Amino acid sequence: MEEKKEYACPEQQRVGCALAGIYTALSIEGVLPIMHSGPGCIHAISSVLSVANGGQNPVPYMESVVPSSNLSEAEVVFGASDKLKSVLEHSLQYYKAEIFMLVTGCSAEIIGEDVGEIAEQYTTPEKTVLHVALPGFKGNNVWGHHQVLSALIDGYVSEYGETEVVPKRVNVWGVVPHYDPMWVGTLEKLETLLRRIGLEPNIIYGPGRGIDALKKIPTAEYNLVLAPWTDLDIAKKLERTFGTPYIHFPYMPIGPTAEAELIRTLAETFDLDPVLTESVIKERADRYFYYFNRNLVWIFDMHNQRSLPREFFANASASAALSITKYFVSDLGLSPRRIYIPEDVPKKHRKTVKKLFLETAGEYLTEEDIIFTDDGGLFEQYLKDVDQMVRKSAVIGSIWDDITAKKANMPFVSVCAPYGDVLVCDKQYFGTDGALTLMADLYNDAEKKGLVSAVV
Ligand code: SF4
Repeated sequence: MEEKKEYACPEQQRVGCALAGIYTALSIEGVLPIMHSGPGCIHAISSVLSVANGGQNPVPYMESVVPSSNLSEAEVVFGASDKLKSVLEHSLQYYKAEIFMLVTGCSAEIIGEDVGEIAEQYTTPEKTVLHVALPGFKGNNVWGHHQVLSALIDGYVSEYGETEVVPKRVNVWGVVPHYDPMWVGTLEKLETLLRRIGLEPNIIYGPGRGIDALKKIPTAEYNLVLAPWTDLDIAKKLERTFGTPYIHFPYMPIGPTAEAELIRTLAETFDLDPVLTESVIKERADRYFYYFNRNLVWIFDMHNQRSLPREFFANASASAALSITKYFVSDLGLSPRRIYIPEDVPKKHRKTVKKLFLETAGEYLTEEDIIFTDDGGLFEQYLKDVDQMVRKSAVIGSIWDDITAKKANMPFVSVCAPYGDVLVCDKQYFGTDGALTLMADLYNDAEKKGLVSAVV
């Protein structure tokens, strides 16, 4: 189903404007974005992707120290390039970074000066200056994320990347840093698993990675995309640019079924030791089922016929919704009722995303149950019209849906931006271990809301 407009304007903001693509730059150590935008822009983009999204700050450069030309009316009228050059010169002098990214927002793009030329003028063998245009009128933060990666590939990796392909090395894509509130913890766990099965993961985001990882991008044997649509175009670009093939495994695995599928896919692609990979699958599944069985009676409530959720709604990013749908359907026995994807998925990817949901849960979903929208409020509107029995379903989404779920007395788990004004720290739902955390979060919320009392 395509977007159905119920409101005059979208409600419940769940994405930032394109300028919030700077969070991708800020998550790569050694890359410093320099804002060429209005003074309020950074505050506007941080409202969804920063503190309200699990208490995240970019490290080491939090928003308050990101240099900005703070464009005002005077620069819009008389030109802004001198001011930008001055901010850039000071940044080159005082900030420890190797890549300085001049980021143009709406006002700078409307002025239309040649910022690319300034970037070229200030680039030296030691310090690269790039330009990336991220005006909010062009798209949202996921679009901005892709623009930042494209600029880094074209302006830095193509120039300074190493060339010799290293067997078993794999670049990891599909996670949008900061937008995915659990990105750091997820990537840590993924990295550990990939190393365990004999691969050499190359991840550019997060602590201890950064510039060296960027340089290694062309040396990977494969690019691995772990998302339904994000970074697919980046993988295709890397294939065109460096000849690296890509693997599209469409979700970050949660639970024993998806994790085993990922390991076996990688084992086949990279010709890994089958004894090792099967033993890793078994060891991790055994641990999962030990804990699962300890809570089995409670989860399925075999004795008391309590009203625990057996169905769920998603109002979440495509990545989070698909990963969790896969886990709920394959391992936990919850079936989806409707999937709202309020992140404005580009039209060219919608068919693929819909197909993935139908392949994962076609027994329960029809095409009409998968709804692409930029209006986070559509789900709440829909819930008003459904009967009380449906309300016994669980909800996964952002903190906005917590409000909706509380009103409807439904169990809820926050899985995407804005995650809420709480600390996410290294929390994640990755693999078999993360699945246990997700399961506990879901049933604990039901308990907290008093939804486990006996069905009358
Ligand atoms: S939409 Fe434009 S003006 Fe508004 S925050 Fe984004 S870049 Fe700045």
